[in-house]
Order: sequence, then C-alpha cells, then structure tokens
Amino acid sequence: MTATAPITQDVLTIPRKLPEGQVNIVGLTRDQLRAALIEIGTPEKQAKMRVNQIWQWLYHWGVRDFAEMTNLAKDYRAKLAEHFEIAVPEVVSRDVSADGTRKYLVRIAGGHEVETVYIPETDRGTLCISSQVGCTLTCSFCHTGTQKLVRNLTAGEIVGQIMLARDDLDEWPEPGVGTGEAGPRLLSNIVLMGMGEPLYNFDAVRDAMKIAMDGEGIALSRRRITLSTSGVVPEIARAAEEIGCLLAVSFHATTDEVRDKLVPINKKWNIETLLAALRDYPRLSNSERITFEYVMLKDVNDSDADARRLVKLIQGIPAKINLIPFNEWPGAPYQRSDWERIEAFADIVYKAGYASPIRTPRGEDIMAACGQLKSATERARKSRAQIAAETGQS
Ligand code: SAH
Ligand code: SF4
Repeated sequence: MTATAPITQDVLTIPRKLPEGQVNIVGLTRDQLRAALIEIGTPEKQAKMRVNQIWQWLYHWGVRDFAEMTNLAKDYRAKLAEHFEIAVPEVVSRDVSADGTRKYLVRIAGGHEVETVYIPETDRGTLCISSQVGCTLTCSFCHTGTQKLVRNLTAGEIVGQIMLARDDLDEWPEPGVGTGEAGPRLLSNIVLMGMGEPLYNFDAVRDAMKIAMDGEGIALSRRRITLSTSGVVPEIARAAEEIGCLLAVSFHATTDEVRDKLVPINKKWNIETLLAALRDYPRLSNSERITFEYVMLKDVNDSDADARRLVKLIQGIPAKINLIPFNEWPGAPYQRSDWERIEAFADIVYKAGYASPIRTPRGEDIMAACGQLKSATERARKSRAQIAAETGQS
C-alpha cells in the first residue's frame, strides 16, 4: 500500500428489507420478482404471467400504486400492497441550468444523498446516473473522490434514478392514450458517469441496467448505455458479458508516473494491464468503440508529446477520445487547459485517425458538470459505525 489513501472496496450495502418488513419491488430482477411473488403465495403456474403484468405497470407505464394495476384481481393487488412497496428515491431538490441541464439531488435510504444529471441535446437526452454515494477511489481531480462517506447504491436506487427523471420529464406513457413512442425520447441515453465507480458495485449496476434494457419496460438499447470505469481491470470483461453496454475508460494520462497521481487505481492496474484488458474486451468492434476519457489539465497531461504518446498506446484499439475540459470545484488543485491547447491536442489525435470530440461542459452554473458532483451528505461526516447502525448492518 502507498502512503496516500488506500484503494479499497470497503463500502456498506444496505439490505433490501425495509424496516417495516415491506420489500421494495423496484430493482428486483425478473427472477427475484418471480421468487418474491411465489413466496407470498402466488401459484407457481401463474407466477410468470404475474411478473409480466407487474413489470409492465412498473417499468412501462410508471405506475406507483398497486391499486392502479387494473388487470390484477382486487384481492391480489391488496396482497401485493401488504407485502411490497414501490419506492423510488426522493428528489430533495432540482436545479435547472441556463443550458437546460437538470441536476437532481436524490435522497436514498439512511438519509444519504446522490446526484443525478439530465443533459438535453438536440437529438437525444442523456441521464448521468450515480452508482455509489461518494467513491472509494481518490482521483485527485475529481470532486466526488474527496467525499469521505461511501456506500453502494442498490439496484432499485440505480434504476430509480431513471424512473424519477422520467417522472420529472413527464415521459411515462398514459394508459389508454397510446404508448408515447411517436417522437424521440427525452431520456434516450444513460451514462454511468455520476458519483461512484460502477464496477465496484457490479451486481447492482448490472441488475439495474438489465431492468432498464428490458423490452417490456423502459426498453433502452444496450448501445445507448455507457459505463465509465476508472480501470477496474478484473471486472471489465464481465461488463461486456453480463451487461453488454458500451464502455468508457477514464484514461487521463500517458505515463504511469502521471496516471498514478491522477487515477490512483493505476498503482494496482497500470496502463499496460489496462490496455491489455481493453484489447481483450469481448465486444470490441468498430461500431462499438471504446471511449477513452481524457481530462485536460493545464501543464499536467496536455502537451503535444502526451497526445502523440496517447495515440501510440491505443494503437489497434477501436476507440474514440473524449477530451474533457477540466471542471473546477472549490479547492481543486488543477486548472483547465487553455482552449488552444485542447484544440492542438485534439488535432494530433484526430490526424492519427481517431475521433476526438471535446466535451462541452454542461450545467457548470449549477455544479452539475463532470466531476463536480459531491453530495451534501459530506457535511454530516458520520462515522461508519453510525451509518451501519442506521442501516441495520452490523
Ligand atoms: N468513476 C467512474 C465514473 C464517474 S466519473 C470513472 O471514473 O470513470 C465520469 C468522468 O468524469 C470520468 O472520466 C472522470 O474521470 C471525469 N471527471 C472527474 N472529475 C472531473 C473534473 N473535475 N473535470 C472533468 N472531468 C472529470
Ligand atoms: Fe471515483 Fe471516478 Fe471520481 Fe475517480 S473519477 S474518484 S473513480 S468517481
């Protein structure tokens, strides 16, 4: 271990069981839902059909009350309500940027908070969702990485972020009034680029994305979901196999010396190891390129030599390089590269044959841009013991 903060996966996961004994039905996979229905007495023969019915109400129509599930018998609806609840995280506040970006401060069980950001564009709308409260990693340019408090989100809390955004965008179809499939979707893409390292909360992220991709519900294509990782090498292949979404990697440096400082997980899995895992990515193809994210930090990683090293390193990997102008936060130890520098860097990458879009910062005025997220939970600075007590874990 190094003298700096250790790389750890030590986070708390709260149990699904709610204090009142009711189970939140949101976030259960089809198999889990089936088992839960059988457990409350649903005959096995009917279970598959009941799952389909409930699933459509929850994820296609966005219904939040069992009483509205009108194709189920009344007494069965009552039974469901007795054992389950339909809970999505609560929106504590909503900020809207001058550019239309919406940032939701979302409260989850235990009083913790995460942030979810909706970014409208002309041809799409992207929801940036969080996978953890805070992050166990400590990338030196990332605001989230400075947050002490960390816990994994449950699958329900992850898919719940999509549901609450659809609530706010009023994007659920209305029963009996058509399916709302006529125009382009307001919420058409998902990026797992909010707070947290998604590959350190693998199972919940996978289950939530499976629910989001299910054709009978939210029905987002796997090609419209991008998971961003700082480079958790052993989980990368699994992401392709078990989720099947697109992959983005927070690369950010072209030497181990610099990457060790910016993305400390590099000390565990260095550039060479990471690139080998990406070369082996089971879904790698020209149509499903890997996005290399590269934050532009003045005089740290933004030289012409860096750009040349970068294209040499990734040679042979179908890739696009997404250049992210550094977004400042209070006390940040870096500055954004000058615009001319970013363009010069982009030009070298482009001439080497890679798309090199520069990410326009969105929602800066409401601290919603990449890497600016850090929930107010930080204020509390509770001890792990306190949180464990609150969430019923020993
Ligand atoms: N933990 C994951 C996903 C969340 S961060 C990961 O690290 O990939 C999403 C992207 O924003 C990452 O590429 C991250 O490196 C970048 N980022 C973090 N802080 C930033 C900042 N202050 N300015 C610009 N980009 C930042
Ligand atoms: Fe965590 Fe990603 Fe921020 Fe690094 S950049 S601290 S991995 S959220």
